[in-house]
Amino acid sequence: MKIKFHVVVTLCLLAVAVAVVAFAARSSRGQSSRASVKPAVRVTGSGAAKPSAFTAAAGQNAVLRNELNWTFGGKQQRGWYLYDLLIGKTLDTNDDALTADFAEEVAAWQKKRGLRADGVLDEDALMALVSQWQSARLKNRAPAQPDQLVTAPPSDFYDPGRSAELRQVERNAYSAYKEMLAAAAADLKLAPSSKYLKIVSSYRSRDYQDQLRAKSPNSGRAGLAVNSPHFTGRALDIYVGGSPVDTKDSNRAIQVNTPAYKWLVRNAERFGFRPYFYEPWHWEYVK
Ligand SMILES: [Zn+2]
Repeated sequence: MKIKFHVVVTLCLLAVAVAVVAFAARSSRGQSSRASVKPAVRVTGSGAAKPSAFTAAAGQNAVLRNELNWTFGGKQQRGWYLYDLLIGKTLDTNDDALTADFAEEVAAWQKKRGLRADGVLDEDALMALVSQWQSARLKNRAPAQPDQLVTAPPSDFYDPGRSAELRQVERNAYSAYKEMLAAAAADLKLAPSSKYLKIVSSYRSRDYQDQLRAKSPNSGRAGLAVNSPHFTGRALDIYVGGSPVDTKDSNRAIQVNTPAYKWLVRNAERFGFRPYFYEPWHWEYVK
């Protein structure tokens, strides 16, 4: 009798477990955010649904875009959706990251880079993109000499109350920034009072960087560098929305969708500025 009771209980638990697993599988499929709201694979281009060799790759990209696990700067990262724009710029495509056309562009780029050209933006492909972006950054990190620095007016800054000492910028980077800002303000119809694209932080002395590091000791290797490009006076943190310099994914998701950031990705290179992919606000004058 007792044994029979145990069997019944065990069967019941088993049934519950199966139901829970089935439900979880269904809801996790439903949760994959944008990927599930949009159809997983969209066919673009000439209208009629053309079967593409890259349809399956697009399906995998729809998942990896939100869920790929990778590490950067000693921190666990999830997905590559924050980098849609930079990826599109590097692949020279405007195709939506969930399309077969995009997967085809990925494959063409993979082939050029000597990677397996399957159109799937997996960890290997992403790390190759990251190293391409990182290698395009400022090479000469010699600290600025005092005569290379100019002091920008308070009105150029996100916080106009910043002290003169914290408003210094390397001379050439500053004039390039002013040209870029004028072009952006015209294109984006920015009001003079707009905070967008104002400078949050520019030249930092070694002492000042040490103070910042002491204040946030957990910023990690991807955050406040020991040998910061800000020492050169050629790195600018520029306001692109959200909380100005917060690396939380939720904050960066806001930043990468502002017109200001989108404009920078499309245009900053023309003025000599290149991005640090991980910090949407950080731009380096590389000329
Ligand atoms: Zn910075």
